[in-house]
Amino acid sequence: MMRYVLSIDQSTQGTKAVLFSADGRLVAKTARPHRQIIHDNGFVEHDGEEILANVLAVIREVVELAGVEPEEVACLGISNQRETCIAWDRRTGLPLYNAIVWQCSRAKDICAQMEADDPHIAQRVLELSGMNLSPYFSAGKMAWLVRNVPAVADAAERGTLALGTMDSWVLFALSEEHAFATEPSNASRTQLLDITTGAWSEELCAAFGVPMDALATLMPSDATFGHTTAGGLFAQPIPICGMLGDSQAALMGQGCVQPGQVKATYGTGSSIMMQAGSDLVRSKNGLVTSLGWEFCGQRSYVLEGNINYTGAVVSWMKDDARLIYDPGDAEACARRANPADRAYFVPAFTGLGAPYWDDEATAILTGVTRTTGHDEIVKAGLESIAYQIGDVVDAMRADTGLDVSELRVDGGPTANGYLMQFQSDVTRVGVSVSSVAELSAAGAAYVAGHAAGVYDDNAIFNQIERRTFTPQMEDVRREVLLSGWKAAVAQAMCH
Ligand code: ADP
Repeated sequence: MMRYVLSIDQSTQGTKAVLFSADGRLVAKTARPHRQIIHDNGFVEHDGEEILANVLAVIREVVELAGVEPEEVACLGISNQRETCIAWDRRTGLPLYNAIVWQCSRAKDICAQMEADDPHIAQRVLELSGMNLSPYFSAGKMAWLVRNVPAVADAAERGTLALGTMDSWVLFALSEEHAFATEPSNASRTQLLDITTGAWSEELCAAFGVPMDALATLMPSDATFGHTTAGGLFAQPIPICGMLGDSQAALMGQGCVQPGQVKATYGTGSSIMMQAGSDLVRSKNGLVTSLGWEFCGQRSYVLEGNINYTGAVVSWMKDDARLIYDPGDAEACARRANPADRAYFVPAFTGLGAPYWDDEATAILTGVTRTTGHDEIVKAGLESIAYQIGDVVDAMRADTGLDVSELRVDGGPTANGYLMQFQSDVTRVGVSVSSVAELSAAGAAYVAGHAAGVYDDNAIFNQIERRTFTPQMEDVRREVLLSGWKAAVAQAMCH
């Protein structure tokens, strides 16, 4: 009998099920979108029950699509959108409110009030959690639920409240045991975890007003969290034995398990994450520290930088500036452009994220001369993606003293050969483009499959084919280009 590993990727836009074979190949995948519930005041929510129905549906669909027998599925792994959180009643298993999505800033006033009440709180939150006090993380959202939803406050009073991230919600609902558990990659993005000890922080829970007894039990990322029949599909319940938040799952899927290995996901925005190893590294350069995972008895830390506009620059050039008809056109423009042109575009449409953190910065096109025309502007837009990602990689180098020699990348813009070569040149790294798109699902599958004894230390990673780009640019030219970029960023931040 063959053995397959099933992986769920519960992401912001939808839920995917991906089936991997015992030799690490992606066999089949299915996906279902869910509603983005956006209120007039900008609050963003997901319906927890709709997501569960989708989880069950995609599992059934992927097993059917692959044409495998349900009993050939050995185990299940889960990767999920991080920070999004939901409250439910442990007795009934029913949600008490919609899930609050990571993008939602409804806890802004709660965080501002905390700072107004205690001028030292932001520093303390950073020390304990590794992250700046922000409504983006789950803690503020959970505090909002407890303060604003009477059913949540009542359940807290009765001692039946569950406050969990999406991994916990899916696990609780799927598992025969109704297991209420989470693991370090998700927990450390709540802003309630003490990243030094790896345990929930009493002090952080008290600061946010989140009842600690409503939080999930912490387990290693490769624990046997529970068992599921997936709504009766599996006659014998299979173990759920791998869970990871999506970025950490992608880091694992890219095989970045050695300190200094870095992955970059190029999507609408970008998440760049470095495996930092077993020692806690605090960033002095605008990055966030969190736990990578606890896997095979080893805890690891990661450094992360997030950028708002990367692929979205290309979308802006297409939809708003109307410089191109299709994202794929950007490459031809950049190749046609005058390579000596000195125009820079800094896409600070909504301020600048890592490593600059300037909410007030605005986008600028600068260095425009008589050599600058349509193609040169598109080239500047495209290159801004590489410069921004390079800045985060440099911050990682500075924080850890580790030399980053390779960037493992995925996402829509990695189809652009000009961009990938330019990234390699300006950041002085080899760029490896993964042929597999489902890296978060692959990472969760690997953890679960490893725990279940399906995978050894190299399966999955060895299956990923990569296209590689190596640095070709002379150092002098790189330095000139980078100093021009830094000057352009300084202009964007000059307000
Ligand atoms: P997400 O997962 O965030 O939706 P994707 O990985 O699907 O993102 O990438 C989508 C982004 O990639 C879009 O912003 C699009 O403009 C950009 N993109 C797609 N193809 C190319 C290309 N050939 N060159 C540059 N950018 C591209």
